[in-house]
Amino acid sequence: MDITLRNAIKTLAKLPGLGPRSSQRAILFAIKDDFLLLDLLISDLQCVRNSLKKCRICGNFGTSDICDICGDSKRDAHLLCVVESVADLWAIERSQIYRGRYHVLDGVLSAIEGVGPAQLNMQSLLRRFDDTQHQRGAGDAAEGGGTAISEVVIALNATIDGQTTLHYVVNLLKDKKLKISSLAHGIPIGGELNYLDEGTLSTAFLDRHDVQQFNGSAHDIPDHAYQLVRRSA
Ligand SMILES: [Zn+2]
Repeated sequence: MDITLRNAIKTLAKLPGLGPRSSQRAILFAIKDDFLLLDLLISDLQCVRNSLKKCRICGNFGTSDICDICGDSKRDAHLLCVVESVADLWAIERSQIYRGRYHVLDGVLSAIEGVGPAQLNMQSLLRRFDDTQHQRGAGDAAEGGGTAISEVVIALNATIDGQTTLHYVVNLLKDKKLKISSLAHGIPIGGELNYLDEGTLSTAFLDRHDVQQFNGSAHDIPDHAYQLVRRSA
C-alpha cells in the first residue's frame, strides 16, 4: 500500500469507533469517483478548523466567542444545566425539554484516568456565580443578562465517575443560594421491568414518586417526549 494512503488510514483509525479496517473502507469510499467525497470532507473539515470556537462562558462550540445558547436572550438565564460533554448538551437540546443555559465540564472526575478537578471546567463554573457577574448590566445578555442563576440541574451520566463528579459539583456549590437537582434514574420510556438490570430497577424504586400529584397521569413526561421516542423508534 502507498505510504500516503497508509498514513491517512492510520490517522483516521485514531477516531473513536473506527478501527484500521473500517478506516481503510472509509478512505477507499472517499476517494472513489475522482475524490468527490474526499474533497467535500476536506472542505468541511477546513471550515470547522477555521471557524469553530469554544464558547468562553459555557464551553459549547460555536463560530463566535459566545455560543448561540449563551447569546440567546430568550433562554432562561436563571437555569443552568451542568453536562459532561458537548454531545450531552446536544442530546438535551434534541429533547426540547430544557430552555435554560449550560455549562460543559469537558469530562468527569476519574481516579483511574487521573482526571482531577483542575482538568475540568470547575473554576469557570464557579465564576458563573460570581457576585460581580450577577450585577452586570441588563444589556449584557451574553453573560447572563445580569440575571443570577437560581437553579442548577446536574445532568451527568449514571456511572461511578459521573456520580462522583455530581457530588463534587454539589459540594462546590453548596454555599451558593441555589436549588440543585440531578436527573432521575430509572425506567426508560417503553422499558420493560423484566429486562432492566437490578441497579436501574432499585434506583427506580428508591426514586418512586407520588402519581396523584400529576392529576392521575402515570408520569410527568410531556407529550412531545413520547412523540420524540415514537419518531426515533
Ligand atoms: Zn455558551
